[in-house]
Amino acid sequence: MDCIFCKIANAEIPSYKIYEDNNLIAILDISQTTKGHTLVIPKKHYKNLYELDSLTSGEIFKVIPDIANALKKAFNPIGLNLIINTEKPLQTVEHFHIHLIPRYENDKLDINFQNNQKEMTAEKYNQIKELIIKNL
Ligand SMILES: [Zn+2]
Repeated sequence: MDCIFCKIANAEIPSYKIYEDNNLIAILDISQTTKGHTLVIPKKHYKNLYELDSLTSGEIFKVIPDIANALKKAFNPIGLNLIINTEKPLQTVEHFHIHLIPRYENDKLDINFQNNQKEMTAEKYNQIKELIIKNL
C-alpha cells in the first residue's frame, strides 16, 4: 500500500519523531500550522476514525495526555486543540491520525465554536439527540 504514514511508521521515510512505542508514533506535522503542531499516528493502518477499533483508540489516548503536557511545558501555549479529520476533503492522508495543535495569541488559526444554528428549541435539540441515539 502506498501510504505515507505507513512508510513513516516503518521508518522508510524520515520524520521529526517525538515519541514511539509498539503501537504508535508521534511526529511533527510538516506544515507546523502552529509551533509544535504534532500528529499522533497508530502504526497499524486504519483509513479513518470510523475504522478504528476500541483497543487502538485506548492505546492512542493513553499517550495523548503525556504529549499534550510536553507541548504545554515546551511552548506555554494559551491552549491546545485536538482535531481528527474523518474523510476527504478534510482528511488529506487516509491513515488515521490526530492533530495536536498548540494555540497562541493571534496564531491566525480560526476554530470558532459560535452558535451557528439560530432559533434552537427544546424540540430541535431533542430531534437531534434522538437521531444520534437511534444510530448508536
Ligand atoms: Zn497507512
